[in-house]
Amino acid sequence: MALLAKKPKGTADVVPSKSYMWHTVEKIVSETAQQYGFKEIRIPTFEDTGLFVRSVGETTDVVQKEMYTVSAAGDSKFTLRPEGTAGVMRAMLENGVMNEGFPQKVYYILSCFRHENVQAGRLREFHQFGCEMVGSASPRADAEVIALAKSVLDRVGLQNIELNINSIGCPECREKYRQALRDYFEPHKDELCRTCQDRLDKNPMRILDCKSAEDQAIAKDAPVILDYLCDDCKAHFEKLKEYLGDMNIAFNVNPRIVRGLDYYTRTVFEFITTEIGAQGTVCGGGRYDGLIEELGGAKTPALGFGMGLERLLLVMQKQECDFMQDKTCDLYIATMGESAARKALSMVSALREEGFFVEYDLVERGLKPQMKYADKIGTKFVIVLGDNEIDSGFGKLKNMQTGEQTDISLGEQLVEQFSQAMIDQMFSGLEDEVGDLIGKGE
Ligand code: ATP
Ligand code: MG
Repeated sequence: MALLAKKPKGTADVVPSKSYMWHTVEKIVSETAQQYGFKEIRIPTFEDTGLFVRSVGETTDVVQKEMYTVSAAGDSKFTLRPEGTAGVMRAMLENGVMNEGFPQKVYYILSCFRHENVQAGRLREFHQFGCEMVGSASPRADAEVIALAKSVLDRVGLQNIELNINSIGCPECREKYRQALRDYFEPHKDELCRTCQDRLDKNPMRILDCKSAEDQAIAKDAPVILDYLCDDCKAHFEKLKEYLGDMNIAFNVNPRIVRGLDYYTRTVFEFITTEIGAQGTVCGGGRYDGLIEELGGAKTPALGFGMGLERLLLVMQKQECDFMQDKTCDLYIATMGESAARKALSMVSALREEGFFVEYDLVERGLKPQMKYADKIGTKFVIVLGDNEIDSGFGKLKNMQTGEQTDISLGEQLVEQFSQAMIDQMFSGLEDEVGDLIGKGE
């Protein structure tokens, strides 16, 4: 059979047997964000192209090479969001969220689109968990946002992940630094890639973020921003380091981090692992004190991060972290014949109303394939319904783990008796666990 359509390059499907992995991550990230007082925000998948050009920056890879821009007849141009921050700031401004007092703290889980070279951990549609905090210039806010990202990474069970921090200063200190970079790169201009030759004048810091190995080699001995920070930016960075120390969060200062988006100011940070190859940045973020004003709002300090969920899942699988399994079926009702099936329908309705996870034969097949299916879905109990059971009003409830069978009413008492069986099964499970612990002398 030749399939007529395949998924676009750089996209991924999540098959039903694997979605529990995503549920685990989505639950942990949203519960952790909420515990830190962040509320969820949802925004559209596409925005005016101009929003990203203004915020992410004209000379960045994202804007120059990676945006998916679409237009429908008669419309202006839209771009599928390459990241979350710009749209979230636009939405907070447009909905007056900035007027509701500071700090405002939001989180989101969303898909992003970038036309990139596809590799492990580098997709064209990927997902980010992101957090943004608006309205605080204090380094405490920086420490808090980093602590939240760290909590998430700890709670999913990641190990050997390093936090790198840097400060890329404010527009004032950065101007001096830019000039130093121009002076440094000018003699090497001909050796740089085409894109970076153009960047040399407009935005030389971008050269430091270039992925080309030749350019990286040239940039190796370039001046570092930390030597150019003004007193205020220096003090801000020193305080952040103190606060991280107070929170017991280990970090390295890496003066080479500049991040791939232009809106960053002062603090930038990355959580990196070496365990999934070259695409090891699981989380990246920083401060963007100028962005809100750039989008037409009042000058307001803000910061945040984006965490790549596909990369997070790659590391989790590599490190064999625990995932929450999907719920399994409580009861499968196997039926023989039409009247048994109709009886099953009323039983299923009553049990589902009480919250039980119940299935029955939807394919109209024989008892044997039904039992095979019940086994495959790992159901806790089975009832087999035939004419005898319907006539007597009683059936056998089979515990699939022990093989034990007990009588169960198919009438009014059904729900109560099944609830009791579920409770008994839970307790015997607990007794087994306690028994095991005592056995091990714990
Ligand atoms: P990189 O340096 O790896 O290209 P970036 O600096 O472009 O990352 P950000 O824009 O800061 O990344 O996005 C935040 C996070 O989103 C990254 O740290 C990464 O985990 C994830 N991410 C970015 N681009 C991709 C992609 N193409 N595929 C999968 N995940 C991605
Ligand atoms: Mg990138």
